[in-house]
Amino acid sequence: MNARPGRRKYNDDKQFKRLRKLTGKAIGDYGMIVDGDRVMVCLSGGKDSFAMLDLLLSLQHRAPVSFELVAVNLDQKQPGFPEQVLPDYLNAIGVPFHVIERDTYSVVKRVIPEGRTTCSLCSRLRRGNLYAYARENGFTKIALGHHMEDIVETFFLNLLYGGSLKAMPPKLKSDDGGNIVIRPLAYCREADLAKLAEARDYPIIPCDLCGSQPKLQRQTIKQMLGEWDRRQPGRTETIFKALTNVAPSQLCDVELFDFVGLDGGGPPAADWLQPPGEPQGGPTT
Ligand code: SF4
Repeated sequence: MNARPGRRKYNDDKQFKRLRKLTGKAIGDYGMIVDGDRVMVCLSGGKDSFAMLDLLLSLQHRAPVSFELVAVNLDQKQPGFPEQVLPDYLNAIGVPFHVIERDTYSVVKRVIPEGRTTCSLCSRLRRGNLYAYARENGFTKIALGHHMEDIVETFFLNLLYGGSLKAMPPKLKSDDGGNIVIRPLAYCREADLAKLAEARDYPIIPCDLCGSQPKLQRQTIKQMLGEWDRRQPGRTETIFKALTNVAPSQLCDVELFDFVGLDGGGPPAADWLQPPGEPQGGPTT
């Protein structure tokens, strides 16, 4: 049975407040926003980016620091992209915004052979354009709407397909040092954001107007995590917690922890491969 309207509104408000609390906590824990920041909020038109903007706007009024928020959308010229949806929404809620127009869609179509997944090139081009815009326009932070699932999925993608132990950090300096990227939804679950999007009736624009299929590896990981979470609710949170609770001395990375220095160290690795006194080319029999 559907909840009564009054009860439903109460639950929606409660849900919003809970997500706002998690967002505020993530911002505080990672020092994402400081006094005087100009934050560029990347608004793709997806549920997560709408939720991020909504939550940041609400936090702006109660934050211990003063900061500016500007919504920025990159119109990638996908066929059928409804150009007026975001400007109408942003004008209606009174948020300053800018739409960058770049035809990355044609670039992707030209470069990637038919039938192959286009998301990684498309995302790279999107990132490049957004980062350049932020630099040129004096934004001190770039806010992206990645949530806890995105972070944990990236961790498993790197673990299972890339052979490295890394995820998607809540705060990051871009490779060229020119931008600071923040992920204020790092503590929020995707399902909660989806419920919020439904309750607030955001005018969502689908990301598949380009006709691309989601990357198979990410889908596989998503299904695996979904299954785990169904069998043991809260497992995604536990994995995320593990990412915040790393013990370098219990892993095997000699760059991260000085195993050699634990007891002053012995001969370097090269000497173990080629013990002193042994002729070049290894032992003779
Ligand atoms: S689904 Fe299409 S628009 Fe979205 S990231 Fe992939 S290629 Fe780009």
